[in-house]
Amino acid sequence: MFADSEYTGFRAEVRAFCESEIAPLAAKADEEQIFPKENLEKLQKKGWWKIQLPEEYGGINYNTVQYSIIVEELCRVCGSTGLTVAAHNSLGVGPIYSFGTPEQRDRYLKTDSSQAVLVAFGLTEPQAGSDAGGTQSVAVRNGDHYVLNGTKSWITSSNLCKYAIVTARTDKSGGVKGISSFILEKGMPGFSIGKKENKMGCRGSDTAFMHFDDVHVPVENRMGAEGEGFKQFMITLDGGRISIGAMALGLSVGAFEVAAKYAATHKQFGKPIGEYQAIQWKLADMATRIEAARGLIYGASVMKDKKQNYSQQSAMAKLYAAEVCNFVTSEAIGVLGGDGYSPRYPVERMYRDMKLTEIGEGTSEIQRMVIARAILKSIKVDA
Ligand SMILES: Cc1cc2nc3c(=O)[nH]c(=O)nc-3n(C[C@H](O)[C@H](O)[C@H](O)COP(=O)(O)OP(=O)(O)OC[C@H]3O[C@@H](n4cnc5c(N)ncnc54)[C@H](O)[C@@H]3O)c2cc1C
Repeated sequence: MFADSEYTGFRAEVRAFCESEIAPLAAKADEEQIFPKENLEKLQKKGWWKIQLPEEYGGINYNTVQYSIIVEELCRVCGSTGLTVAAHNSLGVGPIYSFGTPEQRDRYLKTDSSQAVLVAFGLTEPQAGSDAGGTQSVAVRNGDHYVLNGTKSWITSSNLCKYAIVTARTDKSGGVKGISSFILEKGMPGFSIGKKENKMGCRGSDTAFMHFDDVHVPVENRMGAEGEGFKQFMITLDGGRISIGAMALGLSVGAFEVAAKYAATHKQFGKPIGEYQAIQWKLADMATRIEAARGLIYGASVMKDKKQNYSQQSAMAKLYAAEVCNFVTSEAIGVLGGDGYSPRYPVERMYRDMKLTEIGEGTSEIQRMVIARAILKSIKVDA
C-alpha cells in the first residue's frame, strides 16, 4: 500500500486504541451533541493534542503521514473526535508554533502536561466564509493593546478551548494585507462564546459563534507583524486540508468495512448479497477509490514533510477524498438497505459526518479554485 507499509505496526497500535477507547463513545456523542470529556483526557495521555510539536513543547513530534494515520483511524470510528483533533493540531497549536514568538510558544504551548489545553482557529465570519479576505472583525491599536470587535462563526472547539487564534482587520484600506492575527485567552473581558450550532453531522464536535466586544488584546498577543494574518491563515489551511482529507478517508474506510461485512453475511434470495454482481461492483468501486484517496493524502503528507510546495496537492487530496467519502458513505447505505438508514449501524452517522469534509477548510469549489490557480500559474505563455 502506497507510503503505508512502513507504518503497519504504527497503524495497528493506533487502531487498537481507537477501537477500544474512542469507538464506544461515538454514537452517544453524536446523539447528545457533546464532545466526550473522557476523550480529552485519553487523547492527552496519548500525546495526540500535540502530535507534530517537538518534545520541548510537550509534543510527540510525529511526521505528517503518522498524523494523517491518526486522524484517519479516529474518523474510522468517530468523525467528531477526529475533526476535533485535526482542527486543534493543524489550526490551533500548529500556527502558534510556526508563527508565534518564542514567548508566545512558551506561554501557549508549554502547557500543563496533565491537561488537554485546546486552541481554536477563528477565521470564518457570517459575511466572510469562502471569501476569508472579507474579514470584518476589527482590531484598533490603542497604545500597548488593540481593541477588538467582531464575530466569528462556525468555530470548532469554541467552548472546549482555552485559547483561540483569530483574524481581524488592523488596516481598513489594506485588503488582505490589512488583516492581522491575534492569540486570545478565555477570560479576557469582552470575549464570549455564543450560540452553539445544531449540526447535521460531526455533532459530537463543539461548534459555536465567538463574539468580541471591545476586547483589550495586548500587543504582545499579535502573531507576527501587522498585516501578516491572512497569509499565515492561508498557509495554515494548506496543512489543515491534509487532515480533513484524512478525516474523509477514515470515514470512508469505516463505512466500507461495515458494508463489506454486511454484504458477506446478509442474505436475500437465499444467498449473501455479496454474491450478486451489483453489490460486488459497489464494493470494488468503493475500495478502489479509497486507495486512490489514500495515495493523494500520503503523497501530500510526504511533500509537506520534505518542505516542498504542497499547496496544490493538499487541495487535491482534500477535494478528492471528500468526493470519495460522499460516494462511499452513500453506497454503504445502499448496500445495507434499510439497516443503513438507521442508527443500528454507524454508516448513517458517517454519511452525515462526511458532509463536513466537503465544506470545512474550504469548500470543494474553493479547492478547485486553488488547484486551477496553481495550474495556470505554472503555465509559461510565450510573449
Ligand atoms: C462543522 C464545521 C466546523 C467548522 N470549523 C471552523 C473553524 O474551526 N474555524 C473556522 O474559521 N471556520 C470553521 N468552519 C467554517 C468553514 O470553513 C466554512 O463554512 C467554509 O469555509 C465555507 O464558508 P461558508 O459556510 O461561509 O460558505 P460560503 O462561502 O457562503 O459558500 C456558500 C457556497 O458558495 C460557494 N462559493 C463561494 N464562493 C465561491 C466562488 N468564488 N466560486 C464558486 N463557488 C463559491 C461555496 O463553495 C459554497 O458552495 C467550520 C464549518 C463547519 C460546517
